[in-house]
Amino acid sequence: MKTRREFLIRSSMATAAAWLTRGDLLALAGQNAATGVGQAPAAANTDPAVQPNPDIAQQLRTAAANEKIKTTKLTDTIFLLQGVGGNVVCQIGPDGKVLIDSQISTGTPHLLDALAKLDEHKLKLLINTHWHFDHTDGNAAIHLEGAFIVAHDNTRARLEKPQVMQMYQAHFNAAPDAGLPQQTFGEIETLWVNNDQLNLVHTPEAHTDSDIFIHFVRGNVIHAGDLWFNGMYPLIDTGSGGTINGMIRGVDQVLQAADERSKIVPGHGPLGDKGALQRYREMLVTVADRVEKLKVSGKSVQDAVAAAPTADLDAVWAKGTLKPGTFVALVYESL
Ligand SMILES: [Zn+2]
Ligand SMILES: [Zn+2]
Repeated sequence: MKTRREFLIRSSMATAAAWLTRGDLLALAGQNAATGVGQAPAAANTDPAVQPNPDIAQQLRTAAANEKIKTTKLTDTIFLLQGVGGNVVCQIGPDGKVLIDSQISTGTPHLLDALAKLDEHKLKLLINTHWHFDHTDGNAAIHLEGAFIVAHDNTRARLEKPQVMQMYQAHFNAAPDAGLPQQTFGEIETLWVNNDQLNLVHTPEAHTDSDIFIHFVRGNVIHAGDLWFNGMYPLIDTGSGGTINGMIRGVDQVLQAADERSKIVPGHGPLGDKGALQRYREMLVTVADRVEKLKVSGKSVQDAVAAAPTADLDAVWAKGTLKPGTFVALVYESL
C-alpha cells in the first residue's frame, strides 16, 4: 500500500518535472537528498541521469586556486601537467610551447609557474580537446600569454553561448572573447610544430559533439581528452550531443592511432597505455550491450538502473565522480 502510494507520488512528481522551472527542480532534488533515506535509489523523482551539482564551476575555481601542478615527463619534449580540471599536455621546443587544454582559470598562475620550469620559450598554441569548463576555463588567460587557440568548430560554437550541463543541472557562462578559439576545424587538422606532426582528429557524438584527440606522431603521445576517463565510468554529456556508441567509436580511433609503446593521456585519471584503454573499451561495450538489451526489452530508464547491469563491474570502475546508476541512465538515454 505504502509502496503503491509512493509510486503515485513519484509519478505525479515526474510528470510535474516536465513543466517545473529549473529552480523548482533543484529544490525537488534537494528535497530528495534530504528525505531519501530508505528509498530505492532507482525511484528518483527526477531523471536518474542527473546528479545535481549546480555550483560545480565555483567549486572547481575554489579548488584550483590552491592546487599546485604535478608535472610528469613523457618524452624529452612532451610533459603531462595535472591539477584541478582536465589533464594538460605541454610540448616544448624552438617554435614555442604547445598546450593541450587550459584547466580552471584560478589555477592559471600555478600552470604558468609549472610551464616556466620546462623551458624558456613562450606559449605559442593552445588546443582544446572539447568545450567543457574544466578544460577551457583558463583559455582567456593562456591566450593573453600569447597562445593562439585551435579547437573543433563545436567547441567555439558552444563557448560563444551560455551552456547547460544537464547531468549537473549546472549553467556555464559564455567564454570571454579572449577565451574563444581563433581557428576551428570540422574533421581533421594537421599541424607541424617543434619538429613533430600533430594530428587533431574529431570523434563525432562521443563525450560531447566537440571532442578531438591529439596525436603527437613522432613523440608517440596521444591526448585522448574526455573520450577516456582512465579507470572509471566516464561522463557522457548527452545534452551536448554525447553518445555511448560515439564514445566507443572514438576510443577505437585512438586505439588505431596507438601502438604498444604509446603514452596515452586521458582527460581524467592517471597516464595510461593501449592495454588500459582496451580494457576501458571492453567495459564500455559490455555496459552498452547490457543496457541496450534492457531498453529493447521495454524497460524504462528507472527500471534499467534498478536492474543494476553494472553490479559486477562497479568494484573496478565506480571510483570516479559518476555513480553507476547515473552512468547507466546516461548510456540508456544515448542509445
Ligand atoms: Zn573533463
Ligand atoms: Zn568533458
